[in-house]
Amino acid sequence: MSLNLDPRQRAMLEAMGVTLWQPQAAEAPTERVAANNKSTPENAGTHASHQKPVARNEQKFTAPPPSQASPTAPAPSPAIDLTQVATLDWTTLQTTVASCQACGLCQGRKATVFGTGDGQARWLVVGDAPSEADDAQGQPFSDAPNQLTGQLLDNMLKAVGLARHGTGEQAVFITHALKCRPPANRNPQADEIAQCEPYLRRQVALIQPHIILALGRVAAQSLLQATLPEVATLPLGKLRGQVHQYQGVPVVVSYPPAYLLRAPHDKAKAWADLCLAMDVVR
Ligand code: SF4
Repeated sequence: MSLNLDPRQRAMLEAMGVTLWQPQAAEAPTERVAANNKSTPENAGTHASHQKPVARNEQKFTAPPPSQASPTAPAPSPAIDLTQVATLDWTTLQTTVASCQACGLCQGRKATVFGTGDGQARWLVVGDAPSEADDAQGQPFSDAPNQLTGQLLDNMLKAVGLARHGTGEQAVFITHALKCRPPANRNPQADEIAQCEPYLRRQVALIQPHIILALGRVAAQSLLQATLPEVATLPLGKLRGQVHQYQGVPVVVSYPPAYLLRAPHDKAKAWADLCLAMDVVR
């Protein structure tokens, strides 16, 4: 892994808040959060903080308008038809998600959060689930002025030459594993994660990213359940430092921005994860 940083990257790291940077080779394969620090990526929660696949260069996506909460909360409908979701084109996938009632999370949402960015992006960032601000805006990792989680993600993206609204080499698509906000930012339940996974699977099939950066336990669980059945029981630290696979796409797992805000001492590890992802893309 190349560790040479140019002045721009150093400036971005400073913006990300990484003041002590350690080469990945010096990092243990797992890490331990200080015993007196109750913030863990495991309790980061939801960071309170799809016709045949289409060729990459035929896609140009924009974020859909947020769906509006109905005055009367809908009851969950039967499970998603996996076969049907796997045939949806991008536009139909967006509208299907916007009206989805496949799990109980539809009852408390203000908006579904489909994702934002460029469908030609080589990078796909997957968070856990929408925050309150995400739910209000219908966008993942809200970048509203007072949303520190979104701001930190933007700085992390800048550090690797990406931008939330970038194109070409700077392009990225950002989404969450769960498209609806769990009430009170509770951790999503296993059945909710499983119910929503076909949507993420179809997004991956259509975007065809070169790398997936999974930021959080729920994102990792949704992406790795098939290849790593014990993923739900593993601490996030055990999932870092290696390249997983999802539908043939490399996956790097890292900490969610909301956790990093509470545990800034782990920003250096997050930077090591970004370096690993950059090496995979290269
Ligand atoms: S979380 Fe996913 S499966 Fe559940 S209602 Fe929302 S879009 Fe549908």
